Amino acid sequence: MRVLMIAPPGAGKGTQGALIAAHFNIPHIATGELLRDHVARRTALGQAVQAYLDRGELVPDQIVLDMTREAIIAAKAAGGGYVLDGIPRTMAQARAAYEIASELGMTADVALHLQADDAELTRRLLARAALEHRSDDTAQVIAQRLALYHEVTAPILAWYRDRGILVCVDAMRAAPDVGREILAALEAMRPVLDHPSAQERLPLDLTGLGEAFGATGPATGTPG
Ligand code: AMP
Repeated sequence: MRVLMIAPPGAGKGTQGALIAAHFNIPHIATGELLRDHVARRTALGQAVQAYLDRGELVPDQIVLDMTREAIIAAKAAGGGYVLDGIPRTMAQARAAYEIASELGMTADVALHLQADDAELTRRLLARAALEHRSDDTAQVIAQRLALYHEVTAPILAWYRDRGILVCVDAMRAAPDVGREILAALEAMRPVLDHPSAQERLPLDLTGLGEAFGATGPATGTPG
């Protein structure tokens, strides 16, 4: 199973990416985590990217693409699956990541989109700020990251929809409910992925299926 996650900050990429990785026993490749790790270890790369992270800006493509290539090569050696979390964030990154994955015979099976509105995302990120003290979880930087998401990341969803690999999930609910829906959707796709020619892949929009998946009240989940 090879999954890309496209979601605004605070929608739960980290939490759900970890869940998918554990469920399918595949590596969770989170570019933001990898970059924060470099910053924490004060590596040369960490020092070069710290200011971008602090301001909520995108680090240069080449840095994240090199990181992603390395991680996909490792994922291939480890069995062929992955959950990519945090890349692509722009159309240019989407094309470049596709080329890298294509060369390695590792293109994504599913682009998973977590949907949530800005008010809820801001509430979650401010709540996380109190717990985790991430340098980019301040009100001003949160607003900047959300604006950037709408401007440059959200438009790439159409590309995945056209490719027929987009799965949309309503992430306004509690993290365990969102997680159950994601795993159910991915499990349902497994037979198709195992026999790609058996059925033409169609775009899936599961956002209207909250009730069918046992949705509960307002979201209280951990952001990621
Ligand atoms: P995240 O943990 O995904 O919210 O990412 C945290 C920060 O890492 C972002 O605000 C960017 O500064 C940087 N970052 C993560 N992924 C990328 C990417 N694909 N391209 C550029 N910058 C990224």
